[in-house]
Amino acid sequence: MMLSNIMRGWHGPGMGGQDNGAAGSRGGNLPYAVTLSRWSGEFADPAAETAFGEHVGAAELRHFIIALFVTGPLYFAFVISDQLLLGFGPLFWLNAILRLGVLAFCWGLAWWLLRNPVVPPRLYHYTLLFYFVVLGNALLLYPVSQREFLEIYPGLLVMMVGAFFFIPSTLNHRLLATTFAFVGLGIETLLFFPPAPHQLPLAALFFIVTLIFCVITSVQHARLRRFSFIDSAHSRHLTMLLQQEVALRRQLEEAARVQAHTDDLTGLPNRRRFFELAEREIVRAQRYDEPLAVVMLDLDHFKEVNDSHGHAAGDQVLRAVADACRDVLRTSDVVGRLGGEEFAILLPATSLDGARQFAERLRSAIAACRIGLPGAEISLTATLGVAARVPGEDLTLDELLARADAALYRGKAAGRDRVEG
Ligand code: GH3
Ligand code: MG
Ligand code: MG
Repeated sequence: MMLSNIMRGWHGPGMGGQDNGAAGSRGGNLPYAVTLSRWSGEFADPAAETAFGEHVGAAELRHFIIALFVTGPLYFAFVISDQLLLGFGPLFWLNAILRLGVLAFCWGLAWWLLRNPVVPPRLYHYTLLFYFVVLGNALLLYPVSQREFLEIYPGLLVMMVGAFFFIPSTLNHRLLATTFAFVGLGIETLLFFPPAPHQLPLAALFFIVTLIFCVITSVQHARLRRFSFIDSAHSRHLTMLLQQEVALRRQLEEAARVQAHTDDLTGLPNRRRFFELAEREIVRAQRYDEPLAVVMLDLDHFKEVNDSHGHAAGDQVLRAVADACRDVLRTSDVVGRLGGEEFAILLPATSLDGARQFAERLRSAIAACRIGLPGAEISLTATLGVAARVPGEDLTLDELLARADAALYRGKAAGRDRVEG
């Protein structure tokens, strides 16, 4: 594999062959570009970096707070070596106060962040402040502690490794902190404690090797974390699309179910639905041996309405009758349009007498209806046949409906506009 391929070949997992390292690649339907910067391994698009920061925010904050709690005492622990070098003289106390200052800063910042949680990228402003306070303090300690160059230098290298791997931050901030520390150290060394000439190349090599390890590893780490973020963002996005799809399908299924059960013209349960509901009610009535009544309704001379006012007027009348039924019904009653201008109403826990009274109310309600048409007002009547199951009787729905139907036809024969049964 060519070197340029190795350098470029950091493909993200599960991206359908997209090259995240190549400029212009996008994260499918994600609301931001997922191109990674070749320099830092971070997202080039600030919106993507913000989304990533929110995703890892709680973990990064927890990590930083733990680092603060740990770093403070570790930094302070070096007073032991200060004391061995300086005794209990004024320089030691100055050292101790400076170290105590770092401990207080670390714990104070940790305490503040526990109460005021912030997530990246804002969190990285605090880590940058931390870098400058701790490294600045170390640079102050250097002349105060009277140490030689090579005694101080490993400590600075350890701090640099810590800045890269122990403290959550960005590559640029880490490099800024490293530059600050090593330029400061260089100036101080030349001013106060010039090292032996043979020590300088060694120190420079240590610095370069450590820096290369830190930069390459932290960039790779940044890339891998973002790849896994892209994958999980895709999964979340797909899950969201799937959930939307499922919700839409449920809505459509529900709408189709309602439509299959509903009479388009009147909005009442249709014939099939009426029979389903009525079947349920008669089974219940048989099981608990309760009364159950049914009313069959047929409009009188409805054909004439159609003939003299048109089919649309007939439809309007049917809707008005459906409304009248709804007004008179209890919620437990079941009404359906069986077809044409025939309606059926099932009255649970209702005796024949109760059903007659109900049917009479419905008959007068329909007779009182005035349906306004352009240039005319229609009124009409209905004939209703009533039948009921009496307790102890073993009766099917068809038998009950046949009885009500027979009563209806008796009513028609007897002159219409009446309740029969
Ligand atoms: P009767 O008093 O004997 O019941 O007389 P009728 O005129 O009502 O007689 P019939 O029941 O035979 O007539 C039903 C009429 O209802 C026939 C048909 O034109 C009409 N019809 C059936 N379905 C619809 C519909 O959906 N809309 C309209 N406008 N008319 C319908
Ligand atoms: Mg009819
Ligand atoms: Mg009729």
